[in-house]
Amino acid sequence: MAVADPSCRLVVVGASLAGLRAVEAARKAGFEGEIVLIGKEDHLPYDRPPLSKAFLGVADESGVLPEPTYFRTEETLRDELDVDVRLGVAATGLDTVGRTVHLGAETVRYDLLVIATGAHPRLIPGAEGLDGVYPLRTLDDSLAVRAKLEEGARTVVIGAGFIGSEVASTARKRGLDATIIEALPTPLVRATGRDMGAAIASLHEKNGTALRCGAGVASIEGNGKVERVVLDDGTVVEADLVVVGIGVVPSVDWLAGSGLMLDNGIVCDENLWTGVPGVYAAGDVASWVNPTLGQRQRMENWTAAAEQGAAAARNALDPENAKPYGTVPYFWSDWYDVRIQFVGSPEADEVLLVDGDPDEGKRWVALYRRGDRLIGALTVNGQTEIMKYRVMIMKGAGWAEALEFADKRRAAHAEKLAAAGVS
Ligand SMILES: Cc1cc2nc3c(=O)[nH]c(=O)nc-3n(C[C@H](O)[C@H](O)[C@H](O)COP(=O)(O)OP(=O)(O)OC[C@H]3O[C@@H](n4cnc5c(N)ncnc54)[C@H](O)[C@@H]3O)c2cc1C
Repeated sequence: MAVADPSCRLVVVGASLAGLRAVEAARKAGFEGEIVLIGKEDHLPYDRPPLSKAFLGVADESGVLPEPTYFRTEETLRDELDVDVRLGVAATGLDTVGRTVHLGAETVRYDLLVIATGAHPRLIPGAEGLDGVYPLRTLDDSLAVRAKLEEGARTVVIGAGFIGSEVASTARKRGLDATIIEALPTPLVRATGRDMGAAIASLHEKNGTALRCGAGVASIEGNGKVERVVLDDGTVVEADLVVVGIGVVPSVDWLAGSGLMLDNGIVCDENLWTGVPGVYAAGDVASWVNPTLGQRQRMENWTAAAEQGAAAARNALDPENAKPYGTVPYFWSDWYDVRIQFVGSPEADEVLLVDGDPDEGKRWVALYRRGDRLIGALTVNGQTEIMKYRVMIMKGAGWAEALEFADKRRAAHAEKLAAAGVS
């Protein structure tokens, strides 16, 4: 592989998962030029998924609360990866003609640029300044939420998506009151389809979390700190902590007027190239054409962000040999004592439960059919099989083949339970 001239400077904006993977991949590919990594947060790159899961948990026996998961130490970034890391600095503009990134009054020249500025949470207007109302995107958000949980907060989550559901689940595990308010009649329809959305959401009621669907929020009220959430129908839910989990928007404001095409993120081709010389995008901010599924997508999951970061850097360094980034999307979420995993696309002609029963057990598998192909799979506590379905989708497996495989897995699982004496 030909790698860019060492006199080139690679600038990466966004010092989180995709940005870090871009840096690592550049060095792994043999790039010896200068790398500058610019990040708005003060923290070294850290892992976000634990922020709504283990990080919100209780202290261990010695009274120590869970630590954040940093991907790399400052020394590794500086000495091993030889990166000029600039934290606590936001990119404020991009000049694609002069090839400079603006950091307020300062400018940083680039030859190659990977944009990995991710996404930021949607907020509910009117609740600003009320203590106890937080989104959950950053380590600082999670610290604030955890402090309230430690105080025994009555928790209200607005939005029954994955992150909000994880927060409610953690609150319940701590024995706290938790209520989720969801505007739609069924949660998670976009992510898993209607029937499976309802099946997964039923985990809340089974675990003592109140779930109010089809409910709008009229106001979030309190005197200095949050005291209650008032719903459209006048219902009042008392709260000491409100977590707003109503989705995210790609962080592209700083790119206005740059000439990059912006439409639900940064518009890229299948190589994660923006169409502007030297400029690539990766992670939650990138809207790219996924050749595996043949559709334009913007992902909001860990695996795609990590892989895209690396792919964008490799393609930026060696555009003549650029490789399309294709994937069968994958995400997971942990609620109560179950792991939910999804691969592929939920846009299906049919969704079939092929193993287990959401009404009775904590383990089930559903497959998604588009035409005569397997297009998606959902497992709840099905860690041993989800990746097998991912490979099948990648290979374009037919529906009949998928059902046959599911039959075998079901039989094998039943046999295992019988051998263990579980009926
Ligand atoms: C609480 C939580 C739980 C999650 N759980 C899961 C899970 O269980 N499974 C799963 O698959 N995915 C999960 N995700 C999603 C996953 O973490 C994201 O998809 C991933 O972090 C995206 O990485 P990214 O680098 O593209 O963007 P981000 O992680 O959003 O990072 C972007 C970075 O760019 C910075 N930035 C923004 N604008 C600028 C600017 N102008 N200048 C400089 N820096 C800027 C931001 O401050 C941020 O640090 C979770 C996310 C959250 C928040």
